Amino acid sequence: MLTLDTNVRRRRWRQTPVHRRAMWMTLWAALPALLTMAGLLWVGDFSPRVGWTFGTLAVLFLLGGIAAVRSTVMRPLQTLANVLAAVREGDFSIRVRGSADDDSLGAVIREVNTLGETLRTQRLGAHEAEALLDKVMDEIPVAVFAFDEDCHLALVNRSGELLLARPEKVLLGHSAAELGLGECLTGEPEQIAELDLPGAKGRFKMHREPFREGGKRHELLVLADVSAPLREEERQAWRRIVRVLGHEINNSLAPIRSLAGSLRNLISRDPLDADWREDVTSGLDVIASRSDSLNRFMAAYASLARLPAPTKVVQPIAPLVRRAAGLEQRANVKVTPGPDLEVAMDGDQIEQVLINLIKNAVEAAGETGGGVEVTWADADARIEVCVCDEGPGIGTTSNLFVPFFTTKPKGSGIGLVLCRQIAEAHGGTLTLENRASGPGAVARLQLPKG
Ligand code: ADP
Repeated sequence: MLTLDTNVRRRRWRQTPVHRRAMWMTLWAALPALLTMAGLLWVGDFSPRVGWTFGTLAVLFLLGGIAAVRSTVMRPLQTLANVLAAVREGDFSIRVRGSADDDSLGAVIREVNTLGETLRTQRLGAHEAEALLDKVMDEIPVAVFAFDEDCHLALVNRSGELLLARPEKVLLGHSAAELGLGECLTGEPEQIAELDLPGAKGRFKMHREPFREGGKRHELLVLADVSAPLREEERQAWRRIVRVLGHEINNSLAPIRSLAGSLRNLISRDPLDADWREDVTSGLDVIASRSDSLNRFMAAYASLARLPAPTKVVQPIAPLVRRAAGLEQRANVKVTPGPDLEVAMDGDQIEQVLINLIKNAVEAAGETGGGVEVTWADADARIEVCVCDEGPGIGTTSNLFVPFFTTKPKGSGIGLVLCRQIAEAHGGTLTLENRASGPGAVARLQLPKG
């Protein structure tokens, strides 16, 4: 006998057409035997009492048979239907009992019970994951908003509530424009935006991502207040710049001041020294040279700050590499051609990058008397230009791209920074590392194709 666990609600046994059919089929199956018995009792020489006794027994057996069919086949099916209906409505706690039989009905019952258990475990896992997600959403210091296809707010976390200085139930349903977030749903999906919101004002890193819910397009908007880190970053940058500028200016001004003092002493002597002219001339030469150096430094610094956005044109890389290599007069730069490739780039800027990289490679190779080779290759969606040298290689790579870092007496420390800035403005990358296959370094410039 199949029963539902007592902790679940019992469903009313309903008479369905299937039940009626089963009853009629049992009746029809028993009908020939009943008719035969009725005929025998009619024609036979039996007393009415015997007739009534057999008739009553036959009807009782028939009703017993119908009841047995209902309880062994129809009730289990109805119980299973009830369990499946409960599962459909989200009640996974119902189990069917008394299904130890190894027949097909027993197998179905076991499968249904396993299904209920699996769904219960999965729902528990989903609830736990949902609870964790809710907690994370409420704890992260990043505001998260979801807007429906009409740009009305459909979801907001606690940081979002703080940012808009209103509770969730007041905010939900308002349009992005009403909430002051209209601009965030247009333009670049990732940007730093200056926002003035009821709960905060400053620079925010904004990220927008579309997603679909119920087949409709929604927008997920994430806002992170980056004012403080940016201010700190700016402060650090200013400190670095002031340190470097101060160092450079002092390097030039200190000898100029001391020379100026020496020259004043020299020309104030009476009588003047015999070689005073040469001394003054050489002193003035040093002053001019220091001023030139300061001038070069300031020009290099200005070029870093004033780099314009690239004007990209699709063009082949080969002529550009050959031209840049040909400009180097101090050493022979070997160009090993790669495949014919075209890149969308600002020719002037990329040529400047190549000139800088080749200049560095030639200067490094000059220290050891080694060679320099430039080549390019296809790297999936990018092209890679390599400038290899057989110089001494790089001691420490951490400072290479730090503005004004140089190990050369007349270096500016701007070249690599400028080159990386240009590469990144093209959506590419620039790295400089020691060669794996021998002495020296290799600069790799990667640019997206087309
Ligand atoms: P600069 O050439 O004016 O020094 P860069 O920014 O071009 O400025 O280079 C910074 C520093 O990186 C150089 O001073 C040098 O120490 C190092 N460097 C650059 N290229 C190479 C190279 N091919 N091999 C070894 N060191 C290099």
